[in-house]
Amino acid sequence: MGALRIHRLGAPLTPAFESENTPQHPYSKFNILLRTPASKFIVTINLVSKFQVVVVGGGPAGSSAAHTLAAAGINVCVIDRSVFPRDKLCGGLLTLRSQKTFQAIFKTDWSPVIQTKSNGARLYFKQQLLNAVTDHKDIFFTCRRDYDAFLLDLARKRGATVVQGAQVQTIDLKESSLKLSDGTIFHFDFLIGADGVNSLVAKTVFGEAFNRDTIGFGLEMEVPLSTEVPTVTEPEIYFGLLDWGYGWVFPKGKTLTVGVGGLLKKNPKMREDFENFLTQRFGRLPAAKIKGHFIPFGDFRKTPGRGNVLLCGDAAGLVEPITGEGIAFAMLSGSFAAESIQEALSAARPQSALELYGERYATIAGSFRQANFLRYLLFPKTSQFLFSKALPRSQSIPRRHLDLMADELSHAEYAKFILKKSGSGALKMLFPSRSK
Ligand SMILES: Cc1cc2nc3c(=O)[nH]c(=O)nc-3n(C[C@H](O)[C@H](O)[C@H](O)COP(=O)(O)OP(=O)(O)OC[C@H]3O[C@@H](n4cnc5c(N)ncnc54)[C@H](O)[C@@H]3O)c2cc1C
Repeated sequence: MGALRIHRLGAPLTPAFESENTPQHPYSKFNILLRTPASKFIVTINLVSKFQVVVVGGGPAGSSAAHTLAAAGINVCVIDRSVFPRDKLCGGLLTLRSQKTFQAIFKTDWSPVIQTKSNGARLYFKQQLLNAVTDHKDIFFTCRRDYDAFLLDLARKRGATVVQGAQVQTIDLKESSLKLSDGTIFHFDFLIGADGVNSLVAKTVFGEAFNRDTIGFGLEMEVPLSTEVPTVTEPEIYFGLLDWGYGWVFPKGKTLTVGVGGLLKKNPKMREDFENFLTQRFGRLPAAKIKGHFIPFGDFRKTPGRGNVLLCGDAAGLVEPITGEGIAFAMLSGSFAAESIQEALSAARPQSALELYGERYATIAGSFRQANFLRYLLFPKTSQFLFSKALPRSQSIPRRHLDLMADELSHAEYAKFILKKSGSGALKMLFPSRSK
């Protein structure tokens, strides 16, 4: 099977294929470039490319899957429509959970792509500072442009084939093949969908990438540091700005990453709310551009795939429902999908890969389910009001929240803590003089 394509000279040609290892037969790509006598056109004959695993998307989920598979000696190819380094809208906050996950997968130091670090957070309700912690565990900040390129390069160095600038256009589940927008066809034994929140892989398997009624949305601006905009030492978190969501100011090398994120359906005026927040925080609306992106905030798949297709990261909806953390779960689920394929192949039961992935995935989905339940306690306006009253007096509320982010407190333990606090908070409101 093959495909014939003709390119006008100067037009983009085949996507860039890169690998530390020469692709091996029978999993290889043959691209034959022929120049016509007139030298005006280049004729590209694509023969079939076959990989044991094709990963769509080279973000944290895809790179983690590819690195894990390549390390296990499995023939894997990552395809991404962008050429890295590429931008990705994100706060770039990395927790200790992210650090642990990164180290378990990539087994190297991530400091080349860490821009700043802090040890706490300043918590606000609207513009009022309610509480601050300065002596907690490390919180790291990165720029996704650098971070994602770093991870993808580690996967490439470990032996994954990386194809950049290549948009996957259609997927044929029956044939276990996919086609790029330039006509190139790839066959696979397994497909990992790590292509983000607008996932074509999820759309192909389930008919839609996400549910518009439950999806989240985020808006962000990179505000350059200047004499009027000094950097901050601790990240700032703002409650009371959005319905079922929050705002943030994160310190980066040369900018502050300022954003808001929350459930789309509950925030029809999100842009206006964001502009008001920016104006209040900086005294005027900064000139930089506002960008937006969907966030699958608590909107995860019950079954993360079908047949030989496994979804991970945002493509599976794995953004933590309370904190909005997605990078750690993207990396973790990518490595889980890869380990499950590896286990299924070594047991000579390839059809068991999804079931094995489902068992690992349940560890994330289980705690997200608890977090989704907790949102009904934390996010309604009355609860936000109660917490804004309790927060200034409480040492434990901000610290437990940071413990949760650092993976030092489970969602179940956090839920127990919040339930206890809400109970005593409500008692204090009802009987201010009698309850202690
Ligand atoms: C405003 C905002 C702020 C956030 N802040 C944070 C934060 O501070 N900390 C945190 O942990 N999380 C944060 N998140 C969540 C985090 O960004 C995501 O959870 C994370 O990027 C998911 O990684 P991923 O690898 O699954 O997908 P992505 O990072 O989205 O990568 C998907 C890749 O797939 C490629 N792709 C897509 N379609 C195709 C196609 N058809 N063909 C080929 N390639 C394709 C894309 O080019 C992309 O490179 C934030 C999200 C938003 C929107």
